Amino acid sequence: MKSRPVLALAGGVGGAKLALGLSRILSPQQLTIVVNTGDDETFHGLHVSPDLDTVMYTLSGLANPETGWGLAGDAFAANSMLKRYGVPAWFNLGDKDIGTHLRRTELLNAGWTLSQVTAELCFRLGVRHPVVPMSDGRVATMVNTDQGSLPFQDYFVRLRCEPVAHDIEFRGTPPPSPAFVEALEGAGAIIYCPSNPFLSIAPILSLPGVRERIASFRGPRIAVSPIVGGQALRGPAAKLMGELGFDVSCAGVASWYRGICDTLVMDRADEGKKDAVAAFGLRPEVAGTVMVTDDDKTALARCVLELADEGAGT
Ligand code: GDP
Ligand code: CA
Repeated sequence: MKSRPVLALAGGVGGAKLALGLSRILSPQQLTIVVNTGDDETFHGLHVSPDLDTVMYTLSGLANPETGWGLAGDAFAANSMLKRYGVPAWFNLGDKDIGTHLRRTELLNAGWTLSQVTAELCFRLGVRHPVVPMSDGRVATMVNTDQGSLPFQDYFVRLRCEPVAHDIEFRGTPPPSPAFVEALEGAGAIIYCPSNPFLSIAPILSLPGVRERIASFRGPRIAVSPIVGGQALRGPAAKLMGELGFDVSCAGVASWYRGICDTLVMDRADEGKKDAVAAFGLRPEVAGTVMVTDDDKTALARCVLELADEGAGT
């Protein structure tokens, strides 16, 4: 593990927390953070990549600490102006945040790939660790619900995850991005950040060849459970889990990761679920997984990296 880089897979807020911890310990050469883009959407002509932005803003220290997404101290004047024009501007774009989307869209329109654009934005924000979109092509996460098939942001933001989901679909099968392919080939360990498995990790695994490569990966594969004490710390992970027929617990998370993960880091609150996790063939490891402060993030990252070292040695 020491010599080979770590590949971290992440969505937005939960993923960014552990990614920040990892970036405090590992050098830019030792870490690649691959981020879900199934949530990407065009709003008012602008290409918005919410999870990439969350990771990028978190690593640059610009994120809004209260929400975990968006920029600290941002305002929403442009968005309220859109509403005055009668535009259904339910996706809250901050004024400063819009600058990011303008620049991204401008560069994409000039022919840059999303990977190139992301590298440029990160460079300008002083993010030194590689933050990589899962693909340069388009994948659209669709949530099939009792209110029909909904584009992800309609489900997540406009309808606040209220519809009952029965299936999640990823439209589009573009290849993984070049840096993702390279990281998959060269990684010494794979870490699944505590992101929503269904909405943040699954789109990454849906890309051609990715699940297969991870299934046959020879190094340690470690996931951190986003479910603590039978609940998601935020967002719809627990609700979705139940609706999709999984046990709403870290054992349910273990069942989902079966075959593509060796170790599940579960919270101290879930100590009693160790056997249930082991029953799915994952090694249970108990740690404090609720990350509030930056020290929490670094401590959990250190714990995960120690497990990766142990796994690499066996
Ligand atoms: P999103 O794209 O912004 O929805 O974020 P992610 O998919 O990356 O993360 C959402 C998940 O992160 C939720 O299921 C939360 O339960 C989980 N999460 C958020 N903060 C923490 C934390 O501090 N610890 C753990 N273990 N999970 C967390
Ligand atoms: Ca997301």
